[in-house]
Amino acid sequence: MDLTVLGCSAACPVADNPASGYLIHHEGTWVWCDAGSGTFLALLDEVDPDDLDAVVISHVHADHCIDLFALYGYLEHGPGSGGPLPVFVPSQATEHLAAFARAGADHRFRQVLAFSEVGDGDATTVGGITLRFATAAHPVPALTVRFEAGDRSLVYSGDTGPGAGLEVLAPGADVLLCEATLQGPGAARDYPFHLTAEEAGAIAADAAVDRLILTHIGPTLDPRRSVAEAAGPYGRVPELARPGAVFTI
Ligand SMILES: [Zn+2]
Ligand SMILES: [Zn+2]
Repeated sequence: MDLTVLGCSAACPVADNPASGYLIHHEGTWVWCDAGSGTFLALLDEVDPDDLDAVVISHVHADHCIDLFALYGYLEHGPGSGGPLPVFVPSQATEHLAAFARAGADHRFRQVLAFSEVGDGDATTVGGITLRFATAAHPVPALTVRFEAGDRSLVYSGDTGPGAGLEVLAPGADVLLCEATLQGPGAARDYPFHLTAEEAGAIAADAAVDRLILTHIGPTLDPRRSVAEAAGPYGRVPELARPGAVFTI
């Protein structure tokens, strides 16, 4: 199983780095996980959107979902085949996204993109990849996702604060792709819906994951400091997501 980073900038795209988006590939199965600003163009460099087998949108913040509308345009009005393409979203997300598209009950948006709302304990199989879902700690309904292929596993935190689904899905994972939006001591911060790098390192250590990849680092922060802060509790130097990077799970 391979993980390709399409973009990993928190909150907004910046020069040379789209917002959040990842492509998971295993033996001909393609899953696009998060469609932040700028990731659709990056996706086109990797795979024909018609070859996608599923999409996962972790939550409806724009830095994770807005390029889903680019995909819809491609499939319905562009060169694409018109779907239907399975799209896994958290609770309430279908109507939220459909409202932006002004898509009533019979609108093609809901046929081209075949939405399924998932949450704690839900699982599905897409080609050779099993996806397991849990609820993240975020101000809107949000997902943490575990991808399994054979005996290999990748957990993506999505946007989350401490606790919640990440502590359910991360244990024993081969790779944890974990948000580290913040820096500094967790106890000193006033926002409970993201992780500090130190917290990401502690979660990875508690879950005994083989590899920790930090992502979704605040765009004004120095990622070298995030690496140093996570390395303390993790006990090893974590890796950094960067656009275009490919990680073999
Ligand atoms: Zn985000
Ligand atoms: Zn968010």
